[in-house]
Amino acid sequence: MCLFCKIVNKEIPSNVILEDDNFIAFHDINPKAPVHILAIPKVHVDSFNEVTPKIMAGMTEFIQNVAQEVNIQESGYRVITNIGDNGGQEVKHLHFHILGGAKLKWDHFTDADPKGHF
Ligand code: AMP
Repeated sequence: MCLFCKIVNKEIPSNVILEDDNFIAFHDINPKAPVHILAIPKVHVDSFNEVTPKIMAGMTEFIQNVAQEVNIQESGYRVITNIGDNGGQEVKHLHFHILGGAKLKWDHFTDADPKGHF
């Protein structure tokens, strides 16, 4: 069973923000911003590559509710999902990083020339 499935099953403790029948949101253990929450579907989905539109429909509303719950919907925030090796995905259970609580940086994502491919 994967790490986040164990969190869903409460086999590993987490600091839960919001939970319903289909989704759970908890604090990232290694925060990269004052607010850093992970929102995941309870059902195991490897990554964004495999997620269905139906799950994403619920996920969208759930992420909006999380932002409201921690009061960052007005100040602003960022939603990120990393996919695969180049995306930097370490945990192979779909998760959305919700980052906020301060002005976020928007910097280079790679040392490769961003204008080099097209
Ligand atoms: P990613 O690199 O997109 O796969 O992100 C995985 C995230 O999971 C990282 O930001 C980790 O800090 C976070 N993480 C790993 N283990 C735990 C855990 N037990 N509880 C909360 N967050 C975790």
